[in-house]
Amino acid sequence: MTLAEFEIWINKLMVGRTLLLIQQHHTWNPSYKSFSGTNHFTQQLGMKNYHISANGWADIGQHFTTFPDGTIVTGRSLEKTPACLKGANTNGICIEHFGNFDKGGDEMTEAHRNTIIGMTAILCKRFNIPVNTQKIVYHHWYNLSSGERNNGSRNNKSCPGSNFFGGNKVADCENNFLPLIRERLAGNIPQDDFTPQVLKYVAVNTAKLNVRKSPGGDLAKDREPVSLGAILRVYKEKDGWYKISESKNHWVSGRLTIDVVRAVVETSGSPLNVRNEPWVAPGNISGTIAHGQEVFIDREENDWCKIVLENRWVSKKFLRFL
Ligand SMILES: [Zn+2]
Repeated sequence: MTLAEFEIWINKLMVGRTLLLIQQHHTWNPSYKSFSGTNHFTQQLGMKNYHISANGWADIGQHFTTFPDGTIVTGRSLEKTPACLKGANTNGICIEHFGNFDKGGDEMTEAHRNTIIGMTAILCKRFNIPVNTQKIVYHHWYNLSSGERNNGSRNNKSCPGSNFFGGNKVADCENNFLPLIRERLAGNIPQDDFTPQVLKYVAVNTAKLNVRKSPGGDLAKDREPVSLGAILRVYKEKDGWYKISESKNHWVSGRLTIDVVRAVVETSGSPLNVRNEPWVAPGNISGTIAHGQEVFIDREENDWCKIVLENRWVSKKFLRFL
């Protein structure tokens, strides 16, 4: 479909899944030379078959593919978690841009560029996703094996390409890509805070949590169970049941979730240490979280905050609560 068709379609589409961020990818291979101008679906099917047979996935990994002529083809249902970016899949929307946007690779067409900017802006508006580098993310910023965000410092893909809108670093995105999205949104920029209808955020605390049509009612046919660790927005509460979609009647049992608080890591720029115990001791550092990254907290103890569903802690003084 064209960008204009996409806008009409997405604005009508009811989505129950909580969408908090947009991932940007390039396909790298296939690149522009595999595109004939008419083989969108053959190429999409090729990626789907590859994802299923070579990767062992249930379906194509991405929600959308954009093509050099500016058209968009849908992939996996938005109700389903994508398989694109370890560390950012749970609440993510995955877009693959057809082509190789590394330096020396394909030169992005004007139509393609217009669609990438336009569809990102449309998705931000539709799902109330703020325009910043916490919510619009590049694959390059995540460690490939751990899924930890490290902004490209170690064990990263170049995706969406070292030449994607002037580069694949966080600063390139801030300086070159995001201003184009803001310009396209022309003043209708979603704000980074609670939409007033949201009562709170919760995390799923069971392997699979069924979604029902009403509090305690039948299973919702249009929504798969949600997985352990998924973050849900709660719009209504009734007798211990939570309504988790603004537009659809999707309810889950509150007993199988835990309340979480959103916070952003704020340090002088260096990464924040994550520790196995709520205190400073030699040898209890188990990782780091980059400045500016969002975390969900489920417990507090003596100025230490526990990362949801993990036995790992960060110091409260480096968190700004949202
Ligand atoms: Zn990627």
